Amino acid sequence: MADSKKRILTGDRPTGNLHLGHYVGSLANRVKLQKEYDSFILIADVQALTTHWEKDENLAENIFAIALDYLSVGIDPEISTILIQSMVPELFELTMYFSLYTSVNVLRHNPTIKSEAAQHGFKDMTYGFLGYPVSQAADIAIFKAHLVPVGEDQIPHLELARKIVRRFNDLYRPVLVEPDTLVGEVPRLVGLDGKTKMSKSLNNAIFLSDSSDTIKSKIRSAVTDPARIRKNDPGHPDICTIFQYQQIFNKNEISEIETNCRQGSIGCVDCKNRLFVQLEQLLAPMRERRSKFANNMPLVRDILFDGTSKARAVAEDTMREVREAMKINYFNQ
Ligand code: ATP
Ligand code: MG
Repeated sequence: MADSKKRILTGDRPTGNLHLGHYVGSLANRVKLQKEYDSFILIADVQALTTHWEKDENLAENIFAIALDYLSVGIDPEISTILIQSMVPELFELTMYFSLYTSVNVLRHNPTIKSEAAQHGFKDMTYGFLGYPVSQAADIAIFKAHLVPVGEDQIPHLELARKIVRRFNDLYRPVLVEPDTLVGEVPRLVGLDGKTKMSKSLNNAIFLSDSSDTIKSKIRSAVTDPARIRKNDPGHPDICTIFQYQQIFNKNEISEIETNCRQGSIGCVDCKNRLFVQLEQLLAPMRERRSKFANNMPLVRDILFDGTSKARAVAEDTMREVREAMKINYFNQ
């Protein structure tokens, strides 16, 4: 049956716990679409090393943490395939072939690469970091994915992946699939600091694995409208981070909250409490699923191992076609 379905490929770098930004940007779509599509979710451990090559001591731990995040949001291992990138070496072979005809200048001008290089303080980018979008194109192409659900920062990478695939099909033989991008309902969730996107590495995130108490205190200390000092001062929802979260996580109460905030008839503490209630509704069932899997880590290990084996077989099939198309299968293996 699975063979007749279109395929999804997505993934994340195992660089820390997943947060609400991942959920609204990509995970929610993955959960929603996993029955309709044959879904492959890639834990990009080698891509994590493109920025963490010297500080990789938490890699194994992070791989299991991210697997628990997936399972807790409702990725069903019976129907979705979770795999570990480094254990599919065919990916690196395809990355090399793609890199033969990918322009260094195009990579240098990629806006996401530029902003991430600045974030990591890279003045002189490594070959591996500059080229990670090529490796990502290989991740997508090797599984012949039709659809890639991602957040906004990934749009330039998906554009490139499409070009690389198209070029391959023109140069050699049309064996690869040009993927479509599906950007989440909230393409770029702002962080608790109200300044940049919520990110694992910027200390501004509400993690899916946070306890109820942690979430309460993170929300409590979030900055709202700086001009609002007393509870009944009129508020300015358009500049309030908590209001942005209400728009996403508390749709039913949003117009009432907006009116009351502008009139000064709801205080920030009340408003934050209402957000907390909504987040708890979303996260409590996730916590329950997480603890079930966390108590059975051998099962999680099997899920990763079996998923990776299944994915590797698909990758091997594609690579046979790729080598044949490129006329480098000298012994017809
Ligand atoms: P890192 O700092 O390790 O790069 P990250 O938080 O940017 O971490 P990634 O693993 O790079 O996370 O991204 C995984 C997926 O989640 C991508 O599809 C990305 O677009 C999406 N995503 C990440 N952060 C957000 C956010 N704040 N809002 C919406 N989508 C997001
Ligand atoms: Mg990132």
